[in-house]
Amino acid sequence: MFRIRRVFDDSFPVNREAVSQVQQILRDQFPQLAKYDVDKIPELLLNPLKHRFRSIVYVAEDPHGMIKGFALLSHDAQLKFCYLDYISAAKNITGGGIGGALYEYVREEALSLGVYGIFFECLPDDPQLCKDPEILKQNRARLKFYESYQAYPIVGTAYETPVKPEDADNPPYLVCDPLGQEQPLPKEAARKIVQAILERRYGHLCPKDYIGRVVASFVDDPIRLRPPKYLKTEHQEKLHPVTGKFKRIALAVNDRHDIHHVRERGYVESPVRIRSILKELEKLDIFEKIKVEGYAERHIRAVHCADYINYFKRMCQTLEPGKSVYPYVFPLRNAARPPKEMAVRAGYYCIDTFTPLNQNAWNAAKRAVDCALSCADQLLEGRRLAYALVRPPGHHAEYNAFGGFCYFNSAAVAANYLSTFGRVAILDIDYHHGNGQQTIFYRRSDVLTVSLHGHPRFAYPYFCGFEEETGEEEGTGYNLNLPLPEQLAVEQYVKALQKALKRISRHKPAYLVVCLGLDTAKGDPTGTWGFTARDFSEIGQRLGQLQLPTLVMQEGGYKNRSIGVNARHFFSGLWGGHFAEDTGKPANENLSEKGRC
Ligand SMILES: [Zn+2]
Repeated sequence: MFRIRRVFDDSFPVNREAVSQVQQILRDQFPQLAKYDVDKIPELLLNPLKHRFRSIVYVAEDPHGMIKGFALLSHDAQLKFCYLDYISAAKNITGGGIGGALYEYVREEALSLGVYGIFFECLPDDPQLCKDPEILKQNRARLKFYESYQAYPIVGTAYETPVKPEDADNPPYLVCDPLGQEQPLPKEAARKIVQAILERRYGHLCPKDYIGRVVASFVDDPIRLRPPKYLKTEHQEKLHPVTGKFKRIALAVNDRHDIHHVRERGYVESPVRIRSILKELEKLDIFEKIKVEGYAERHIRAVHCADYINYFKRMCQTLEPGKSVYPYVFPLRNAARPPKEMAVRAGYYCIDTFTPLNQNAWNAAKRAVDCALSCADQLLEGRRLAYALVRPPGHHAEYNAFGGFCYFNSAAVAANYLSTFGRVAILDIDYHHGNGQQTIFYRRSDVLTVSLHGHPRFAYPYFCGFEEETGEEEGTGYNLNLPLPEQLAVEQYVKALQKALKRISRHKPAYLVVCLGLDTAKGDPTGTWGFTARDFSEIGQRLGQLQLPTLVMQEGGYKNRSIGVNARHFFSGLWGGHFAEDTGKPANENLSEKGRC
């Protein structure tokens, strides 16, 4: 059992440990490597400019954090290529599909970066070039493996020319994996790529004139790849296609949302919301529905207090089908003594009178959390964008309280989960203040919380969301509220959004969680603003331009006639902003501001 995840840097303990295990694999499996080449791995991740490549590490790890294998890919955005430096299983690990699984991730990554292909060296399978029959056998197996991904040696060049005559045996081929693209590689592009590879990776071994000769030997235009040798056309079924999934938005839909249906008049949070959104998203070819996994309750317990969780669970279990309990007594004066009567006690854990408990509220809310965590895992694997299309929403649920149609703060659960692997920012763009995550992370500096919302002077939840709430203790300066007037033009909103994005950039998060409320839309029964589909597209685009791995959580939005169209525009903007301007730099480098507050 292993899972594959991308390691962005080694600044968090879990990643530091992974990188150090990667270094051990290098020492074990590549004993000829210089100490410097092993030591520099953490710096490669942090300092791409120095090495003129952006390095991307994927690890295959077991549930205990043991690294079973890894791949290191280098990306050059200008020359549009990736170079595969290493792909290796750990010592004493053979089989189990680790190499294949890692290579598949690397291919998805490369395809999403819009490159010509992946290049790497592979020892030759020609008996003229490799004298040792044992090594020749291994070389053949390796090239056969890559053929199953339609990666072939580049032919008709002098790449295999040994630098010194005594190195004549076993000179490597340069292999190219065009990632299933029908995009021919022009001679000029190929020459620049080969020059970059030789200078940056083998500059210490190859004299300048040698490099010049090899580069000049690329005369075919476009370059030619060797025809399949091992897997001929009749073996099509053995070929592994690249799916392009990293360029798609992972979509997790709460399949249990409609069991939670409060039929009272005026309860606007209804199942039709999800159906309306899904219908419109189907018009875009940028989503991939993912399987929603079940996660342990401990993830919820990490952000909500045990008393509240236990009460919520028990109360829901005891209610008969179709029966709802509305909080109606709020024992604010004696918080130390929760009322004994279960139904009365609802008010002890609730912030309003319109969020009922019923038999299915627990199941639906738990499933919404599962969707959020399934999306978070997609980001950890290297996916750029994920969308948890869920109800009930979650951003009003606090550490020890539910309310505002929310029971569990799914965004906070996901943010907390991701925070083990890197800094996180939560941006709440629902019309209503994100009081839930504000209270949950109020004393933490690793999860920045930012909210743009209708001023609590006139908008729910009324008691918080003010500008002066900036965090406490270690979290001081890590909560930003941008309360906005009752009537506002979208230009004013965009100005506030820019301020929010600047603050997020300064935080340098590895992951962004967006609480998407579509109740800022024109005609929403719970809001006062008038955003149109085009406005949502612009908002999405600006968020996408941050180029951060982003999880979007569905929160509010109650104008059922336009909610789907608005969601569609938001996501096409987000997707366009994220991928159209991919500069190939790590997320943090695209951010305009440096330093912390
Ligand atoms: Zn809302």
